[in-house]
Amino acid sequence: MIRKIAAILLLLAGGYVAWVVILNLGGTPSPPSGRQARAPASAAPPAAPGTLVIPVAGVRPDQLVDTFADARSEGRVHDAIDIMAPRGTPVIAAAAGTVEKLFDSKLGGHTVYIRRPGGQWMDYYAHLDDYVPGLAEGQRVQQGAMIGTVGSTGNASPDGPHLHYAINAMAPGEGWWQGKPVNPYPLLAAGH
Ligand SMILES: [Zn+2]
Repeated sequence: MIRKIAAILLLLAGGYVAWVVILNLGGTPSPPSGRQARAPASAAPPAAPGTLVIPVAGVRPDQLVDTFADARSEGRVHDAIDIMAPRGTPVIAAAAGTVEKLFDSKLGGHTVYIRRPGGQWMDYYAHLDDYVPGLAEGQRVQQGAMIGTVGSTGNASPDGPHLHYAINAMAPGEGWWQGKPVNPYPLLAAGH
């Protein structure tokens, strides 16, 4: 009887050791709780290629220009894509989500921040000529839904109306004004 129990205990212990070995072979130790446990935001793509809609009606993927790394005034980097289009062209949601903030800023003009389901990604639309009537914070929007029109509000040239579109990776608890920019261009131009 005692030998039988000892054998069972040995088996259990062996199983535990095997588990520990397997877990360690995986390369990633089980994360401690706390902020360091979070993987870098850049580790995950913002969306699978081809799952975003180009957020300006009628614009084809081959018309897009990668302006993500362009320099801007006062040492800033663009961190977004500019999509040129005539004033008044519909701006549509690149991805579904919830309108978190409608904000008028000196640089961005009329802007919209839409957080995607799950909260990890924020889509940002700037220089809008106007919002679509009735657009409100807390409202859910479907992918492709019209949210406003292309314009040049903020620091955009009146001669060059365009949509300034950005994607931000959001850490847990980050607000609409935070996040880490990722380049929308390869996601919008993917597969073309
Ligand atoms: Zn821009």
